[in-house]
Amino acid sequence: MNTFTILGTSAKSVPSKTRIILHVDMDSFYSSVEVRDNSQLKGQPVVVGSDPKNGAGRGVVSTCSYEAREFGIRSGMPVSKAYKLCPDAVFLPVNMSLYKEVSKQIMEILREFTDRFQQVSVDEAYLDVSMQVGDHAAASKFAQNIKDEILLREGITCSIGVAPNKLVAKIASDFQKPDGLTVVKPEDVVDFLTPLPVSRIPGIGKKTADILKSMDVETIWDLAAYDVQLLLERFGKFGIKMHQMARGIDKAEVEERGDVKSISNEDTFDEDTADPFVIGQVLDSLAKSVHVSLMKNKFLFKTITLKVRFEDFSTYTRARSLRVYGSDIDLIKVTVKDLMREFMGKGKFRLLGVGVSNFEKVDGKQKLITDFL
Ligand SMILES: [Mg+2]
Repeated sequence: MNTFTILGTSAKSVPSKTRIILHVDMDSFYSSVEVRDNSQLKGQPVVVGSDPKNGAGRGVVSTCSYEAREFGIRSGMPVSKAYKLCPDAVFLPVNMSLYKEVSKQIMEILREFTDRFQQVSVDEAYLDVSMQVGDHAAASKFAQNIKDEILLREGITCSIGVAPNKLVAKIASDFQKPDGLTVVKPEDVVDFLTPLPVSRIPGIGKKTADILKSMDVETIWDLAAYDVQLLLERFGKFGIKMHQMARGIDKAEVEERGDVKSISNEDTFDEDTADPFVIGQVLDSLAKSVHVSLMKNKFLFKTITLKVRFEDFSTYTRARSLRVYGSDIDLIKVTVKDLMREFMGKGKFRLLGVGVSNFEKVDGKQKLITDFL
């Protein structure tokens, strides 16, 4: 008797229950909150971001309403470009403390539905409801209840994707925005993904999509069928990841509260840049969003990480650990800028990321610095 064969067989025979994951994403969150609180804005193109200064502003659009999107305005776009596309839009500053307050309420609503919950940004969360609902039909009703509850209590709409993993749930939540509910059953994952453009895959932005297009890869089907070795040569490790994602594979768990090992955020530029001013601004805003999550989780951190990706996709990370635990946003800002020095002048950047890790939970007596808000 071959022991290894027996072990292999028994491992295979273990029934693996299909996971049921929800991705909940508020619809144009910042502008929805603004419109909710000022009914005069209803139906108007609303752009939340830095001051356009009559077209001379250098910041970016944070969020815009669906009416603004009809003019071609998108989040992440330079605000000067948005102004050019629609000078009559209502341009509003980012009122982060308001959005954070609404976000907090929404996350509390979501937590009432399950504690297998992972907030990923101010307006997005994953829920693992495998234990609560038996199948994807039941999950659809469950998701509809969440949508109804958020609309009733917070007055804004969201879109939800239901799928067997986080990746497909995220693509599904984006599938019928705004106010969408898209359920992708395990047996439908391939049919759902393959006709979509590659840009629907998280992490594949315009630039990557353009490169793929030059390789005759336009749909997720094309990408899934492409030689993974060639993707590896062209894009490095991300090529392998892309190929897996195109096949709907994602094993990442919904990380419950308390399981968080690191908090990070990254930003891909609309256009690759070497401009120190833009880089400084992006690092500051990434530091801020990371810090917001830290405060929410009541974590002190010890390690700060910078990630850079150059226009040729070469990617580097640098980390520095503090001698004591910290909570100050300026520690993050100063450290990442210092780590950034090594890379300045070496080319244009396509992506920057800021992360913190090595956490210590704040005990009741300690007080966090929160006056940055
Ligand atoms: Mg959103």
